[in-house]
Formats: sequence, C-alpha cells, structure tokens
Amino acid sequence: MSGTHHYLIALGSNMRSPRFGTPRQIVRAACGHIENAGAEICALSPIIRSRPIGPSAREFANAAAVVAAPFTPRAMLAMLQDIETQFGRKRSGQAWRARVLDLDIALWSGGIYDELGLQIPHPGLRERPFVLGPASAITPHWRDPISRLSLAQLNARLTRPQPLSK
Ligand code: AMP
Repeated sequence: MSGTHHYLIALGSNMRSPRFGTPRQIVRAACGHIENAGAEICALSPIIRSRPIGPSAREFANAAAVVAAPFTPRAMLAMLQDIETQFGRKRSGQAWRARVLDLDIALWSGGIYDELGLQIPHPGLRERPFVLGPASAITPHWRDPISRLSLAQLNARLTRPQPLSK
C-alpha cells in the first residue's frame, strides 16, 4: 500500500465557527489544512449550499475534493479527524448533530477497504445528493466499486424524476 493514493473526500459544515466563519469559509479553510498536512487537492468542486426545511435554520455547505496523498486509508482518516478536531469538532457519537466540519472518505483509488470500523466506499455515498452532486461535477467517471456505477450514474439515479405510481 505504498505510493500515491487518490481519495474522494466529502466535506461538509453546518455550523459557524468563531475562528473560521461561515460553513462555506470553513469548507474552504479545511482544504488549506488538508494541503498543509501533506496531501494535494487535485480538484475541488463548487461549494454547494442548502437550507434545511424545518425548525433547524442552519445553513449547510458541502463540497467534494479529489485528493492525492502518500497516506494509507487508515492514515488518511487519522489526518482528516485531526483536522476536524482543529476546527473544534467534538466527537459525540451522534451522527446527525450540528457540526463545524465533517470530512469523510467517500472513495479510494485502491477500491474497497473495510477494517476496524473504516468503510470505503463510505456507506452513505449512494444516497447522498450533497456528496454525489459535487463529486460528479469533478470526477463523473470514477466508479463505485460496489455498485459498479459511476458517480455520474449514481447522481443521475438520485436526481432523475421518478414516474408517478398509478
Ligand atoms: P462521522 O460522524 O460521519 O464523522 O463518522 C465518524 C466515524 O465514522 C468514525 O469513527 C470513522 O471511523 C467512521 N467511518 C467509517 N467509514 C468512514 C469513512 N469512509 N470516512 C470517514 N469516517 C468513516
């Protein structure tokens, strides 16, 4: 597992940070931290913004990046978690709570990795429009090794209008 690995990283934020600012500024700043940690951002998607409907009026910012790094998946995860901590993220065990910064490994050039709780492809990849939209904008042909569908195909599957059931 030596040499250069490529990763598709999903970035998200839905909290302001006193130090880094709005969710959009947080996502942008996180890319700087990834590069400072020794990885190269080969492509960065537009940062998309979505407003959740309902009582939580939090703004969401999401983006995807193709990152080249000499790190194995385990070392990559440790690096990303270290950056989350630098942004003030507290690991609570609650998956959907508000968070300053969320960095997930969506795909890896080595294919499938499933050891000690780290799962690549990320198990939520195929259902998340806020990952598939930005990701398919920068790397539409990268294939999910499990479904064998490309990111463009996975994204189309989510965004295609569904026929009305009779
Ligand atoms: P989250 O709350 O979404 O940041 O999830 C954090 C937990 O998910 C950590 O304990 C990670 O070890 C685990 N995890 C499993 N697979 C992945 C992945 N592909 N990328 C990031 N975290 C992952």
